[in-house]
Amino acid sequence: MKTSLAIPVIKTTHSKLSETDFSNLVFGKVISDHMFVADYKNGEWTDLRIEPYAPMEIHPANAALHYGQSIFEGMKAYKNDSGEILIFRGDANARRMNESAERMCMPSIPEEIFLEGLTQLVDLDRNWIPSGKGSSLYIRPFMFAMDNYIGVKPSDTYRFMIFTCPVGAYYNKPVSVKVETQFTRATEGGTGAAKTAGNYAASLYPALQAQKAGYDQLLWTDGKSHSKIEESGTMNVMFKINGTLITAPTHTGTILKGITRDSVIQLAKDWSEPLEERFLTVSELHQALENGSLQEAFGVGTAATIAFINKIHVNGKDYTLAESSQDSFGKRILKELDGIKYGEIADPHQWIIKI
Ligand code: PMP
Repeated sequence: MKTSLAIPVIKTTHSKLSETDFSNLVFGKVISDHMFVADYKNGEWTDLRIEPYAPMEIHPANAALHYGQSIFEGMKAYKNDSGEILIFRGDANARRMNESAERMCMPSIPEEIFLEGLTQLVDLDRNWIPSGKGSSLYIRPFMFAMDNYIGVKPSDTYRFMIFTCPVGAYYNKPVSVKVETQFTRATEGGTGAAKTAGNYAASLYPALQAQKAGYDQLLWTDGKSHSKIEESGTMNVMFKINGTLITAPTHTGTILKGITRDSVIQLAKDWSEPLEERFLTVSELHQALENGSLQEAFGVGTAATIAFINKIHVNGKDYTLAESSQDSFGKRILKELDGIKYGEIADPHQWIIKI
């Protein structure tokens, strides 16, 4: 990728690379040497820079801490066998970040700043990207209010940053889920479609209750009637019933428009797989589990790509799902997406940004 934006770089004099144990990476705990920073002042993004990753000073009156104007993204870069770096659908993350920004009354970040900051940062820290299938570099772009002001109003100043974390080979463990019919993640007119901090804070308590009851994650239902399946934990969710894939639509504004979800849908269309973007009701799911017509259930998201579901708790009962066969849709789509992400197969939709 050609670079056009001149971003000043201050390199670290104390790289942590040699003291990092790449065989024992805990997700999100190890952070690469540098970070990208841009500040929004007087109506424009200024002072773009790459500098050593370090703590920063925040005023106690920082508006993001009090009123939650804070949004983020999550994406990954992969290293192929020739040492090239492949970033998966970074432009889609840039667009989604700006959709979140609009909902949270925050300024949009020009796609050029987002992508140039990201590619130049990843290029500088390219030695932090573990090689080997299943390993990757997790990229965390985020933006938050910078005004020091107590009062509920949109901030006038913001900071946009990106840092990265090396991630070891992902162990794709099947997950158990519980259909949540008491707590709510999002309601129509709310912020469910925005990747904003408060949505995640609000999900912690219900998720903890589910974990205490022995389930890995929740299957969120709609906030009004709790009768329709929306998404799962921090993933979108798909079911295959009687040969048709079913996944919730995004027009209600209650569901995060997952980039993995969009990729799976595009590939399913390429493969002419029967697919319906519609709400699956809790009673339909229950019925399909009772009569054996539920063939597959899996979450889709950046962390796992595909997270196979092996148990569903619905209407007071646990249902165990058989492991998906190698020719199941879930297993085939995982192989295809992994192949594209690691540059092993053709990239039919130009999803890869190579650096
Ligand atoms: N839903 C929620 C609530 C999420 O946090 C995520 C993770 N970003 C997803 C779905 C999946 O989105 P993506 O495929 O872009 O990772």
